Amino acid sequence: MNAEIIAVGSELTTGAKLDTNSQWLSLELAAVGITVDYQTTVADDREAMNAVLRCAVDRCDVVLITGGLGPTLDDLTRYSLADVMRVELMLHEPSLEFIKSLFARRNINMPERNVVQAKFPQGSEPITNPRGTAPGIWAEIPRAGHARPCLVAAMPGVPSEMKRMFLKEVLSRLPGGNRVIRYARIHCFGLGESAAEEMLGELTARGRDPEVGITVHEATITLRIVAAGETAEACAAKIEATRALIRERMGKYVFGEEDQELQHVVVSRLGERHATLSTAEAGTGGLMAHWLTEVPGFESCFSGGLIVPSDASKIDLLGVDRNLISRVGANSEEVAGAMALGCRERFGSDFALSVTECPRFEAEAPAGEAPFAFIALAGADLLKVRKHMLVGDPAIAKSRAVKAALDMLRRQLM
Ligand code: AMP
Ligand code: MG
Repeated sequence: MNAEIIAVGSELTTGAKLDTNSQWLSLELAAVGITVDYQTTVADDREAMNAVLRCAVDRCDVVLITGGLGPTLDDLTRYSLADVMRVELMLHEPSLEFIKSLFARRNINMPERNVVQAKFPQGSEPITNPRGTAPGIWAEIPRAGHARPCLVAAMPGVPSEMKRMFLKEVLSRLPGGNRVIRYARIHCFGLGESAAEEMLGELTARGRDPEVGITVHEATITLRIVAAGETAEACAAKIEATRALIRERMGKYVFGEEDQELQHVVVSRLGERHATLSTAEAGTGGLMAHWLTEVPGFESCFSGGLIVPSDASKIDLLGVDRNLISRVGANSEEVAGAMALGCRERFGSDFALSVTECPRFEAEAPAGEAPFAFIALAGADLLKVRKHMLVGDPAIAKSRAVKAALDMLRRQLM
């Protein structure tokens, strides 16, 4: 069982808009065991669409089309379908009534142009969408040399409408693939990609069942487990076994799963201990406070954050010693520690994290030496300071520094 996804729209082929529908549909089809062999993007051009559609019907069992179903002159999907099916468009009265009712609900008369949205290639059927958008089109197109027809669904281009129609109306018409695929993600922080690969050993070997892939995003390493099986339960069992192996091998580097980020883990650990945190940031411009305040329930453990880019703000707001700054510089181990201690005292929190400057790549650093920042963690009878090298893409220097700081606290709370 294979499939092709066709994204229709000149806004896509010109690059003005990104085709996100195909990615979403591919993941949905994979989850029911239907392999997507082709993703095709085509302009609002009848000849081009006909060529693409003929080709897709010929080479795939399932064809999902998004876009080009609107009432305007450049919406050609229904015409192209009719061309390829070698039939005419026919008016479907119930659909016309339905579309009229959509307009009536908004107290406007239906423009004449919208009548076309109630026309369907002869032999196809409307895919109704109870939540109030124009119907999609379902067609089963016979293919020379194939026992089974090609199953075609044309859906709206607007992503929210497309998703609703796919999940509510299209998915159930597709034959269940003979296997299901399930995914799991495990996140690690504090080591490089190649080090992670080494620790995982044969787990990342190609062709392993289930497969384990490594991706890196702004210093967070994500291990993605992909399991295929006959049932969801079989997949879950395979994932569980591999997850245990990964956790065993990666140990303290594992911080979370699925959508969890370091800040979620930190907030939940603080919550378990009824402990509070405050932050003082120079070079990261409040990014740490921003991330923390996006976590649901942060109010109970986040006492507050200060942005202290200047010497004066460090002195006035955090009580950092003026002489210390002039002696060792603001981007120093000593000042990072003084910032964290001062912040903890100012907010009366159990813990405080500080980040010194986050110099822009190549900017102030002396030639040959990679730029760096210092991060510090203060707690009761606790002060830890670390030099944080700002290697890699300068665009992500801030988020890497913030992650390093959050990870310092996470490990302290382990
Ligand atoms: P259409 O159904 O072709 O009139 O598309 C309506 C709107 O949906 C377009 O203007 C796009 O903004 C959006 N759209 C269409 N196709 C896609 C796609 N493949 N991915 C993301 N957005 C899309
Ligand atoms: Mg369009």
